[in-house]
Amino acid sequence: MTVWAPWLQGTGGVAVAGAGLLAYAVRFPSSTLLAPSVHRGTRTRRAIALTFDDGPSESTPELLAILARHGVPATFFQCGANVRRLPAVAREVAAAGHEIGNHTDTHPRLDFKSRDFIARELAAAQESIERATGVRPRYFRAPYGIRWFGLRETQQRFNLTGVMWTTIALDWKWPSERIVPRLLNGAQSGAIFCLHDGRRVETAPDIRATLETVTEVLPKLMEQGFHFEKVTDILCPTKS
Ligand SMILES: [Zn+2]
Repeated sequence: MTVWAPWLQGTGGVAVAGAGLLAYAVRFPSSTLLAPSVHRGTRTRRAIALTFDDGPSESTPELLAILARHGVPATFFQCGANVRRLPAVAREVAAAGHEIGNHTDTHPRLDFKSRDFIARELAAAQESIERATGVRPRYFRAPYGIRWFGLRETQQRFNLTGVMWTTIALDWKWPSERIVPRLLNGAQSGAIFCLHDGRRVETAPDIRATLETVTEVLPKLMEQGFHFEKVTDILCPTKS
């Protein structure tokens, strides 16, 4: 039996709109509804910020070597658990002059988690990163880009700004032949690319697609006149 009930439809509409807004707030790269974040840098320079999440991993030194060959700085959003597994690699990232951000301790989804849980995840990562590298992160990237209630207060407590992206590489599931054109297509002044030098908190993850992509894409972007900046720098419109 079908009941004609416009008031129910109306309620459904509000519920759908509410769910849509929540999905936007939680997942959308430019949303700042649940916590302060940036998703792109200044358009005043032909610069791109390369960011790498989920490290450090056993293969991060290979990535560092590729970046060093081109003199390219990057930003690494590290997980506390990975840093404790590979503190020397975490230190190597910092020593090479790259920026280090917080990507939680164990890489959980933050949605439907308590404020205490979120606070503990960020706190443990801050602590492990600082202990291993001497660096206290100022930027935070939410695992899977998922933000939740309570994140705002925790970010404030640790003085962390959220960083999303203009282009996500999908390097955990795509081969480099698909990722390279995706990144070239997303190349623009102030772009923030999200790649991965680990795979969540897996031991010895296979990041060949990421390494191949970076090897291929750096010379191409440089030919197009782009240079690379750390997140801190790309957010600053007046940096010379
Ligand atoms: Zn991640």
